[in-house]
This record gives sequence, structure tokens and C-alpha cells, in this order.
Amino acid sequence: MQRVDEFFPRDYADGRARFLALTQAAGFSTTSFVHPARRAPDGGELACDVAWSGPAAASRLLIISSGTHGVEGFCGSGAQAALLASGALGGMPADAAVLLVHAVNPYGFAHLRRTNEDNIDLNRNFIDHSRAPANPGYDEIHGWLVPESWDGPAREEADREITRYQQERGMRAFQEAMTGGQYNHPDGLFYGGQAPAWSNLTWRRILREHCARAEEIVAIDLHTGLGPWGVGEALCVASEDEHRRAVSMFGDQIKWTGAGTSVSAQIGGTLVHAAHAELGPGKLTMIGLEYGTYTIPETLEALRAETWLVARGRTDSPEAARIKQRLKDVFYVDDPAWKQAVVDRLMGFVTRTREVFR
Ligand SMILES: [Zn+2]
Repeated sequence: MQRVDEFFPRDYADGRARFLALTQAAGFSTTSFVHPARRAPDGGELACDVAWSGPAAASRLLIISSGTHGVEGFCGSGAQAALLASGALGGMPADAAVLLVHAVNPYGFAHLRRTNEDNIDLNRNFIDHSRAPANPGYDEIHGWLVPESWDGPAREEADREITRYQQERGMRAFQEAMTGGQYNHPDGLFYGGQAPAWSNLTWRRILREHCARAEEIVAIDLHTGLGPWGVGEALCVASEDEHRRAVSMFGDQIKWTGAGTSVSAQIGGTLVHAAHAELGPGKLTMIGLEYGTYTIPETLEALRAETWLVARGRTDSPEAARIKQRLKDVFYVDDPAWKQAVVDRLMGFVTRTREVFR
């Protein structure tokens, strides 16, 4: 038997090749949505690949997607590969299908970014851009989060101001201002963009072309970076209705971000919101499976450094390599026990979905 380590990719190209080989071997039919304008650092193609198994007209559908947040795809791609190799996706009822979506944001996966080619956080991009919400909290802290230089007096002053903000408003308010999404600072953190990104249009196309016929859909979008090490917290972000459906299927382990008790701040404009809009009311139960890595301050600091690097730093410097490696490390724990926990947790959801579909 293969060790769980062996399913997790060295880089995007490795993850993609493995995904295509394993889906083909398991009899899935695959479609590739190739990025029209961007390439990997090694010049290779970037694509979002989808793989379908089951009847074309299946009324029940399980979707498992990875790499919405680029660099988080190391985890998601590895978990998808381990599932495929284990055979766990077989044995669905006759009227059910499985759709795997590999690397929703291939640019971020390949270039070690959480965001896409335009610094867009895809889970803030699915909004009506003519009515982008304001985030005055972020406006206030942007200049400190992304200072002129990463060392020296500018950085020290920025850190003092951030600490002052945290002390005056509290950590929860700081996290919400920083991570809740913003539309005014294209070089900033958790930027939602000014228009639908390529990955946004591709995700909608996948839903329309592959998912429109299904009547009951369970979807799991794989993420990392929030929550305790190795724990996969299952989150519903769209509505209390969806949360109720998820609890009836998977139990009260499912958190709703609107309740304020989950590891994530309440956010709008996610893939989930778009999926509900595309598929119609009541059909979809979508879960964000958020695997914990390190503490929130550690993760946010790594994100802040990488955002600074791209906005103000030199991407060919030795410092750049360290910042990129650190970002990868906080979103992907290269440890067999962590990876095993990731795969086991996802396997549990697949097993339970198969029972729900019977
Ligand atoms: Zn994520």
C-alpha cells in the first residue's frame, strides 16, 4: 500500500499530472479549462481540470474541489489523489455521480499564492461588482499591512499601529477588517477584484455544463489555514437553510459562519454563493472543509509578507524565496500525520455522502 505522503504533489504540475492519470485510470471522463493568458513559473500550462464519474443524467452529485486558494491546492490535490487511489469514490448508487474539480485557481497553486493572477481572493470575487461592499476597517489598516519596506522604521511603525488597532478594537474586529474582503486596494490582502476573474467564470461554466441536471448536490471545497493543526472544520457560509441541510446529513459538527462560532469570519462573494445562484434554491449543500495548520497570527503574517513581496518587494531576491516557502508552509503541512488526518476526514464525508445518496 502507498504511503499517504506519496499522493501529495511536489508542485502544481505534479499534482495536475497525477490527477489526470488517476482519474483516467479510474474511468472518469476529464475536461480541461486551460488558462488563456498565464503560465506556470516553468512555462507549463495552467488549467482547471474536471473529472466526472457516473451517469451523465445523474440526479445526485458529489463535487469535491481543490485549489480555490491557489497554494492551498497542495493539500486539496493530494487529498483528491488519495481518494482516487483508494477507490473510495466508487460504489456510488446507480443514480449518483462524482465530479472532481482540480485547481480552481491554478495560477495561485503554481506560483505559491493564495490569490490568483490579479491578486484576487476568489472567495471574495463572486459579487455584483457594481455594488461592491465597503470595508472601512480595511481601508484604515491597509497601509500598515502592506508597508513601504519589510524591514526598518516603516515596518516597525506599521507593526506598532497594527498592535494599537488590535488592542483598541479587539482581535476579532481586526481579523474581520483584514480578512472580510475589500475592493479598494488591488495590491492589498483579501482583495475581491473589480470584475469576475477567469476562475470565477470557469467555476460558473463548470456548474452550468456539468451540474445543472442534478437535483441533489453535495459539494466540498477543500481549504487550509484556519483552525487547529490537522483538524478539518466543516463550514457552511451561505445560509442557515443550507446549514440545516448539512447538519441533517453530517451531524452538528458542521458550523455556520454566520453564527460567529466558527474558525472563519462571515464572508460574502464565495464560490458557494455563486453555486447557489447558478444551481437554483434548495438543491445544493456546500461545505468548506478548512484544515487547520498553524495559528491565525502565524498564517496572517505569512500572507501579509507574501502580499508585501508581490506589491513592493523583489520577487527574484533570496528574501522572496523565504517568504514564498513560508506561505506554502502555513497552508500545507508537509507531515505524514497531518496528511493522513486530511485524507481520513475527507474520506468520512465521502462515505457519509454515499449513505445519504442511497
Ligand atoms: Zn482557503
